[in-house]
Amino acid sequence: MIPVTKPYLPSRENLDKYIDGIYERQWLTNNGQLVQELTRRLERYLGVENLLLVANGTLALQIAYRALGVSDARPEQDPEAITSPFTFIATASSLKWDGVEPVFADIDPGTWCLDPINIEKVITPNTRAIVPVHVFGNACDVEAIDAIAQQHSLRVIYDASHAFGVKYKGESLLKYGDAATLSFHATKLFHTGEGGAIIFKRKEDLERAKKMINFGITGPETIEELGINAKMNELQAAMGLCVLDEMEENLKARADVWHRYEKELSKTLQLQAKHGALGYNYAYFPVVFESEERTIRVTATLKQNGVLARRYFYPSLESVDCLDAKIDQPISKDIASRILCLPIYSGLEEVDQRVILSVLTEND
Ligand SMILES: *Cc1c(COP(=O)(O)O)cnc(C)c1O
Repeated sequence: MIPVTKPYLPSRENLDKYIDGIYERQWLTNNGQLVQELTRRLERYLGVENLLLVANGTLALQIAYRALGVSDARPEQDPEAITSPFTFIATASSLKWDGVEPVFADIDPGTWCLDPINIEKVITPNTRAIVPVHVFGNACDVEAIDAIAQQHSLRVIYDASHAFGVKYKGESLLKYGDAATLSFHATKLFHTGEGGAIIFKRKEDLERAKKMINFGITGPETIEELGINAKMNELQAAMGLCVLDEMEENLKARADVWHRYEKELSKTLQLQAKHGALGYNYAYFPVVFESEERTIRVTATLKQNGVLARRYFYPSLESVDCLDAKIDQPISKDIASRILCLPIYSGLEEVDQRVILSVLTEND
């Protein structure tokens, strides 16, 4: 079977070297040497400051909400945050889990990111934040979102789980918002098995979050505030350092796959409309068909040919019962019903990609 994605497995020899170091130091977690090294190297690689490594991308969102005062210990205040219905469940469920009501605003039909015009319509006195998603690594309309946030005194936390290494107007896209979060799950472009990071705009927010990820403990006998366990460990960091060492090869292989798809499919299928100023990371290749019926048919034909393409993000999140969303999001619902993500990973052979392309072009 050809999967939709494969975790990138770096050189075993390199990984063994890092693991030897862990055995020598006998230090497994709590801000160890490798976590510190990965923090520095990621800041340099991404061109950002104030980066905090955490245990996964969902905790990255939750710690960001807490450090920025979006979620707090007073749920009777009914806080709300405006977010996208067209994303992985964790963006919205992490808000709900922390007592913040996710309020959806519909997406732009071309870029599939939150449409700023729809954000303004759902702001209430209880709105504390906007949580937009740079979906599939595309940049949100960051200027318009920043302007709305300023005008209404709202926090902005970008779920940038898909946007590792993405540049916007020549600089890291992760610099926008009060914070941006990354997921380093095994299936993501850059990964640590499980893991994640938060990039804060301000140093004081980073310092606050640092305490929060280690139970609020600040010394052997001091607990300064309410915290949780969200620390990354040394084994995760070792994997990350090795994946980062091979990032150029990984990116090049994905870019080759991405460009072959684009060349063959851009005339007949709807692709994501990318921001002009975007430096893309080739993490995903979603296509949109003219009908849900054809989407289901192509998915089945691909499966008969040994290819597991995935319908994501489907379903649109306003239809997920446990999120209690009451309002229809017609554009997100429509795109979600017709979208398919095609296999893309380093190591996907051109012959296998040809099989996928022939199914997609035959089924016109
Ligand atoms: C992967 C992902 C997450 C969750 O990250 P984990 O590391 O799996 O917890 C959150 N949001 C989006 C958009 C994602 O794709």
